[in-house]
Amino acid sequence: MKKNILDFTREELAKELDSPSFRAKQIFQWVYQKYVDDFSKMSNLSKDFRKKLDENFEIYTPEIVKKEISKDGSIKYLFRLKDLHTIESVLLPMKKEVKDSEGKILKEAKYSICVSTQVGCKVGCAFCLTAKGGFVRNLTPGEIVSQVLSIKKDNKIASNRRVNIVYMGMGEPLDNLDNVVKSIKIFSDENGLSIGPRRQTISTSGLAPKIKKLGEKNLGVLLAISLHAVDDELREKLMPINKAYNIESIIKAVKDFPVDQRKRVMFEYLMIKNLNDDIKSAKKLVKLLNGIKAKVNLILFNPYPGSNFKRPDTEDVKKFQQYLLDKGVLCTIRESKGLDISAACGQLREKGVQNGNTI
Ligand code: SAH
Ligand code: SF4
Repeated sequence: MKKNILDFTREELAKELDSPSFRAKQIFQWVYQKYVDDFSKMSNLSKDFRKKLDENFEIYTPEIVKKEISKDGSIKYLFRLKDLHTIESVLLPMKKEVKDSEGKILKEAKYSICVSTQVGCKVGCAFCLTAKGGFVRNLTPGEIVSQVLSIKKDNKIASNRRVNIVYMGMGEPLDNLDNVVKSIKIFSDENGLSIGPRRQTISTSGLAPKIKKLGEKNLGVLLAISLHAVDDELREKLMPINKAYNIESIIKAVKDFPVDQRKRVMFEYLMIKNLNDDIKSAKKLVKLLNGIKAKVNLILFNPYPGSNFKRPDTEDVKKFQQYLLDKGVLCTIRESKGLDISAACGQLREKGVQNGNTI
């Protein structure tokens, strides 16, 4: 079987090819910068070498089977993998392009791409739609990387335009640590997409030992913790993983995580009506974050059919935010993008295909 070029970091590819390292560089430039998906077009490589590549490798990106465009401009992609399972990714326009009266671009548009790391998820959080389908498998590095490559190509986003990556799609990134680390390296490569680690945010439900492991690798990526509750009792109900790694263990792991001087660890706090949206919780949250360079991102629960939880009142969310700000804790409210197309947080799930059979 042919190997997928997208599965390899540049160093790994150089080893695989057993040829001078500039060859791997050239291939990276073709694939990630010139968006070429056919070895025969790589004109600075010898014919023999192209043939050898073609015999042993492929440039495989999963097929786009569905695209939904939200009123706010975000686009949700459904990709079909080789084994017919499907994953979702979302392109989020963060800032619009600014042009002057002559049409010259003054400020470039900014995008984030939300990527999936697994088909399904093992963690089983009570509020999350991805969890409902159970866990199927980890994505390969190439399957993670190709989400960004395909979306950039599909939207004709120039290859030198950097995007931000949030590992907040389907799956728990730290439960697929090795492949996620490879994808971080492939994304960062200056001969490739050149998306530096500080443009990549890994969101986790709090697998404390894996946070430690990721930190030890010192990659420079940003960390986001899905905290969602300030006492273990409620957190266990919402996120069963809390039985294995409680709040204290997560906070300890975060304190040991290397953070760039100018950056902060993000704490995502999913607000659910009448569960964790009161000022008492806000108080506890401030205490918990004491001593951490943190920023809090409040997420309003995105309802879906059949869920028992309710979206909090905007007024309560604002009060919660104000309390944190008054105590000197940076706090933003996450805009729920793509609500109308279920592309918002926790609304991604495998669709149309189950156990390999189309339904
Ligand atoms: N597994 C990782 C990353 C993917 S989930 C994690 O849990 O961090 C991305 C974010 O969406 C998480 O903070 C998650 O808790 C949140 N989320 C899940 N279900 C949601 C829902 N129904 N409404 C709003 N946010 C949700
Ligand atoms: Fe998995 Fe994250 Fe969903 Fe929890 S919130 S089930 S960790 S994807």
